[in-house]
Order: sequence, then structure tokens, then C-alpha cells
Amino acid sequence: MIDIRWKAFFFVCTLCVISLFVWLFSTAIYALLFFSSTVLAYLAIQVIDIHALQKWFKKPQLQAVPEGVGLSENIFSALLRYERANQQKKNELNAALERFNTVANAIPDGLVILSESNEIEWCTSNAESQLGLDLKTDLHLPIANLVRNSNFIAYLNSEDYEEPYKLKGVRNTEVILEIWLIALGSKQKLLISRDITQLEKIDSMRRDFIANVSHELRTPLTVVGGFIETLSDMEGAIPENIRNYFSMMQDQTTRMRRLIEDLLTLSHIESNTQPPEDRPIAMQGMVKMLFNDANALSQGKHKISCEFAENLDLLGAVDELQSALGNLVSNAVRYTPTGGTIHISWQQRGKQAVFSVIDNGIGIEQQHISRLTERFYRVDRGRSRETGGTGLGLAIVKHILTRHQAKLEISSELGAGSTFSAIFPAARVVHK
Ligand code: ADP
Repeated sequence: MIDIRWKAFFFVCTLCVISLFVWLFSTAIYALLFFSSTVLAYLAIQVIDIHALQKWFKKPQLQAVPEGVGLSENIFSALLRYERANQQKKNELNAALERFNTVANAIPDGLVILSESNEIEWCTSNAESQLGLDLKTDLHLPIANLVRNSNFIAYLNSEDYEEPYKLKGVRNTEVILEIWLIALGSKQKLLISRDITQLEKIDSMRRDFIANVSHELRTPLTVVGGFIETLSDMEGAIPENIRNYFSMMQDQTTRMRRLIEDLLTLSHIESNTQPPEDRPIAMQGMVKMLFNDANALSQGKHKISCEFAENLDLLGAVDELQSALGNLVSNAVRYTPTGGTIHISWQQRGKQAVFSVIDNGIGIEQQHISRLTERFYRVDRGRSRETGGTGLGLAIVKHILTRHQAKLEISSELGAGSTFSAIFPAARVVHK
């Protein structure tokens, strides 16, 4: 199509030439009349076109773009091209959005996009059924008004989403959901809900099985151990040449008893999902007791020291924490050769409180450190067994600390020693 400027130029030139001819063959008045009437007719056509355009803008439809004449023809055909490209982009975007919606709704997890103030901006059909939402009516409503669970609301407002939250019985008391919150940029959040009812059932069956087996084994083992002990103590009951078999049997029954006790402790902590009862614990007394226990266990083979911040106490379950911190202390004694040093400390670190056990014992290679809290994970099975270990100690420690929102930090160097620290959050710290 000819450029609009050329078109205007040709029109003016042609009009002038024709007007000149009219002037030449007639009079100047006729030429002027011809010139002005043509210009007026042209202007009228343009006004009609502009009016058509104005009408079109009120109801813009691709099929109804007006066809102009003259200069407006250029503008209208540019408009048509622009509208066509726009429509194509719209179609592509709609197709992409539809594909995204199909994929998002096919994901078995529920997805919800929340605004900065936790209002629902979008969600999938699985999120609707899992969380009892209805996007049509609940759009832009705060999720806390719809999922009414005080712990969930506390989790939502905590802004600490490192660990998922287990939400029970939103629509059905049987259903357990795992909720993950992920920050999307600085304002929005993505909430992912996953139905873990079956997994939880299997896990609870596993826990029950271990607890039941351990419980059932405890009585016969106590009886067998008791008889072995009685026989060993009875003079002349055991011939001297087989006495060492009896002492081996005694060691093994003691080991099995320890294993069963640890398994029972672990399944008790695992099945007890309620947060521990928060009571103030006098940490000065606890640290002193752990120091005395370490000395009794060491039997003078190590140099043991302790220090504590006097005004610093802790909120938590005293029995559980005593068992967890005691485990760290007994590990330090068991994995530090004779003559080594062990230092127990209870100090403030920023707003947090830290219980540390530092030893210069055998240390641990870096590759093992992340796996130490797994059940039965031992760096050296022989040494663990020799020192009366079950391989469950640090698994118990981790569980207890997690229940107290605390973290276990381990740093170690092979042959140089280890530091095990339990770091408690500010909310659990009590200043006397
Ligand atoms: P165990 O009953 O075998 O001691 P734990 O769960 O308490 O089981 O510890 C797991 C493993 O971590 C131990 O087998 C040991 O290899 C290692 N470990 C724990 N504490 C220490 C420590 N203070 N020094 C060196 N190794 C340690």
C-alpha cells in the first residue's frame, strides 16, 4: 500500500493539475469551484470514516474493522493488522493458560497462590477439595477465615516455612494434609497441600509394630537376663570352664535390653505428636547433673569441665531434654580415648541458647556427619558396640530437639574431636 504521505501528495498534485486544466479550458472561477468542491467531498468522506472508526471503538471486533477510503484506508488497514496480531497473541496466551490450568489441576497436590496478606488469589481443584475452598466464592478472601485451625494460622504467620506443617481434619477428621509454604518473590506465597493420610497410616503401623515387638521382647529378655545373673551369682552353679560363656550371655542380654529401651523411647517420642509440655527447667542444676553423670561414666579416664550462664533457663519437657543432652554427653565420653578432654557448656548465643559438648576424641569424617541422626547409622559398628551403643542415640536426640523447635549442630574433624550443639530458639529461653 502506498505511504500515506505519498498518497496525500499525489492527491494534492492531481487536484491542482486538474484544476489548472479546468482553468485553462474554462474560467478561474470554475477551476476554484472544482478545487474546493473536491476538497470538501474528500473531507466529508474522511469525516464519515472517522465516524465509522469512532463507532467501531465502542464495540471493537476484528471482523468489523471499517474499510476506509483515501488516507483513512491506510489507518484502517494498519488497525486491522494490529488487531489480527493482538487476537493471535490473545489466542496463544489463552491456550498457554488453559494448558497451565490443565497441568496444575492434574497435579495430585493442591496449589494455592496467596497474596501478601494471605488472601486467596488462585487455587487448583485439588486444593479446593483438600482445603474446603471454592475459588468462585472465596477469591480474595483471607485463607485464615476459611481454614480455621489455630496452629495452621500460627504457621502461616510465623514466616518460618523451612519445615512443612501437618494439618489434620480440615474437612474430614481422618484426613492428614502436609502443608508447604513457599515465598513467591517478596509478596506472594505458594501453598502446597498434600494428602499424606496413607503415608501416616503406614508410618503409624510401623511405629506400633516396633513398639509392640519391643514391648513383647522386654519381659522374656528380663526373665532370661535375670536367670543368667542369678546363675552367675550362685556359687558352684556354673562350671568354671564355661563361666565366660555366661558373662558373654549377660553382656548380650544387657545390650538387647538397652536396644529395646531405646526403641521404646524412640517410638514413644515419635507417636507423641503433641508438643512437649512447656515447664521452666533449671538449667544450672541440669548441667551440673550431666557433668556428674559424665564423671561417673568416665570413671576418671577423662578431664571433664563445665561452664554455664547462670541466669539462663529453658522451657521444655525436662525428662526428654535430660535424655537428649545426656546422650550427647555420654557419646563424648564413649568416643573420647582415655586422657582426652570433654567440655560441657550452656551459653547464650544472640537471642538463642546453646548447649554444647566439646571433646577432643576420635572425631568423625565429614561424609558421615549428615547421616549420624539416622536410626542405626554408626561410623564404626565395632566401636559403637564395644562402648555399649545402640545406634539410636542421636536419632532420639534429633526427635526430642525437633519437638522443642531446636536444632542439632555437629562439627567434627577426624582425629581432632567433635562439637555437638543443641541450639534452642529465643521463644524457649527464660532469663531469670
Ligand atoms: P551409638 O549408640 O552408636 O553411639 P548414636 O546415635 O549415639 O549411636 O551415634 C551415632 C554415631 O555417631 C556413633 O556410632 C558414632 O560413630 C558417632 N558419634 C556420636 N557421637 C560422637 C562423638 N562425640 N565423637 C565421635 N563420634 C561420635
